[in-house]
Amino acid sequence: MTEKLKVATVSLAGCFGCHMSFLDIDERILDLTAVAEFDRSPFTDIKHCGPCDLGLIEGGLCNSENVHTLREFRRACKLLVAVGACAINGNIPALRNPIPLKECLEESYVHGMGIENPQIPNDPELPLLLNQVRPIHEVVKVDYFLPGCPPSADAIWKFLTDLIAGREPSLPYPLIRYD
Ligand code: SF4
Repeated sequence: MTEKLKVATVSLAGCFGCHMSFLDIDERILDLTAVAEFDRSPFTDIKHCGPCDLGLIEGGLCNSENVHTLREFRRACKLLVAVGACAINGNIPALRNPIPLKECLEESYVHGMGIENPQIPNDPELPLLLNQVRPIHEVVKVDYFLPGCPPSADAIWKFLTDLIAGREPSLPYPLIRYD
């Protein structure tokens, strides 16, 4: 019996929509689990990424913990895939980039509507926010980019089945058009 492909996934600065799209492969997930097993992922309760064949990254980088997790994935995974627009270009979380971080924090925690006891959180256990939200390829080498917000379940399925079959992944135009 050939060994199963080891797959890890994580959501950094994202909305979990790409993971929901992954789950939209529906019953095909049974075909997937026949040839692949999940390491660290929201689908498991594994806290750290062990050696893996494939790491799927949803979301960009908005804080120091995101950077730490991404580097752990890069060290552990033979292939790293930026899944969705947030990982590829920062997407919606990056809309804060033109605004200084201090102003973002003050608007959220001091001047925003309905705030009682205004104070900017400053606990050492909280990850520090980056000045700007960044795409993941600015910090680690990324092997593949799977576009979309989110990529459709069919696009994710085609991408994974190509890789599992040892083919270079290629997405036909209908899977990467968004109008
Ligand atoms: S790319 Fe879209 S669906 Fe995926 S995490 Fe970002 S906002 Fe959510």
